[in-house]
Amino acid sequence: MMSTMTGASFRALRVHRTGTGFSRRIEEVPFAALPAGEVLVRVDYSSLNYKDGLSATGAPGVTREYPHTPGIDAAGTVVESDADEYRSGDQVIVGGGDFGTLGWGGFSEYVRVPPSLLTPLPAGLTPREAMIYGTAGLTAALCVDAVASRRGAAAAGEPKGNALVTGATGGVGSFAVAFLSAEGFRVTAVTGKSAEHDYLRSLGAQDIMSREQATDSTGRPLLPGRWQAVVDTVGGVLLSTAIRSSARSAVVAACGNAGGADLALSVYPFILRGVTLVGIDSPFVSQETRRAVWSMLAGDWRESLRRGIAIECPLSDLSEWIGRILAGEVRGRVLVRIGSR
Ligand code: NDP
Repeated sequence: MMSTMTGASFRALRVHRTGTGFSRRIEEVPFAALPAGEVLVRVDYSSLNYKDGLSATGAPGVTREYPHTPGIDAAGTVVESDADEYRSGDQVIVGGGDFGTLGWGGFSEYVRVPPSLLTPLPAGLTPREAMIYGTAGLTAALCVDAVASRRGAAAAGEPKGNALVTGATGGVGSFAVAFLSAEGFRVTAVTGKSAEHDYLRSLGAQDIMSREQATDSTGRPLLPGRWQAVVDTVGGVLLSTAIRSSARSAVVAACGNAGGADLALSVYPFILRGVTLVGIDSPFVSQETRRAVWSMLAGDWRESLRRGIAIECPLSDLSEWIGRILAGEVRGRVLVRIGSR
């Protein structure tokens, strides 16, 4: 792409490998530093996800090459385009694939990407609202759609059943609680944050469990079946307990590993209770699915945007929020204002 911006510069968070580890700071970078791509986007908002914290601190398996600009989410306006489907002035969501992990990400005033990483901003959503959702909202929507569609329709007036959400005050967890509640499930939220029970109730949780209450360490292959639906963002023993506590024909959506990657199980929940375990990998869903889910987020589930799930920070404060999300101290979502200097 021949850019009219050649010679100019913009601000971005840059992470550097140092002799002893990794360091990060806001830097002025030239447009020439951006990777090749057909579409140049001016970023208005990004958001902070757990994975961005991992990328910003050099955690293995997320980002290989440094210096690096993390940020798996961005929303803004097309400035220049060599792609037929996009024109200058179009509002877009950027994400998916390797955006912000192996590739340059959204903690940057400008990004240059192929059209495969773009979704047109759906009618009814502003770039700011799209980033309140971000990858967390998209992932929660994929999880809830997976469990709700497999559970089928409940009889009119009947509750859909009992749903469990782990890591409930996190970004994915908060939206999962709100969406499951909107879909008619009776939601039990599992949290390690005893001060956030009112927050979880405000999202629609009817019952709350501590992580200890939701953890079974006996190793019994089956526990009393309590849940018809589970959205797990934590992995490890909490996911194992949730699957062993799932009722007949329950559906469990697993998307995260905030608490660990191991999963100790027998096959009994699957062969004696018909439990379905669905894996969610939001960066690599098809463009068609991505667009359909963003339409759902702009439609019936939009009400969740009024529940106070996000706090907003400027790019200059992002570094300290990265530390907090890795320490498990963040409630809900961190919206990152990129646009104005
Ligand atoms: P957040 O950091 O916002 O939320 C994670 C939550 O998990 C925390 O708020 C906390 O909730 C809980 N938690 C954190 N540490 C532990 C622990 N050691 N043991 C038990 N619970 C813990 O992250 P996100 O919501 O952005 O992401 C959640 C997970 O989903 C991450 O693992 C992320 O990598 C993954 N993810 C996966 C995607 C996919 O497509 N597969 C896409 C997006 C995210 P509380 O205090 O309430 O218990």
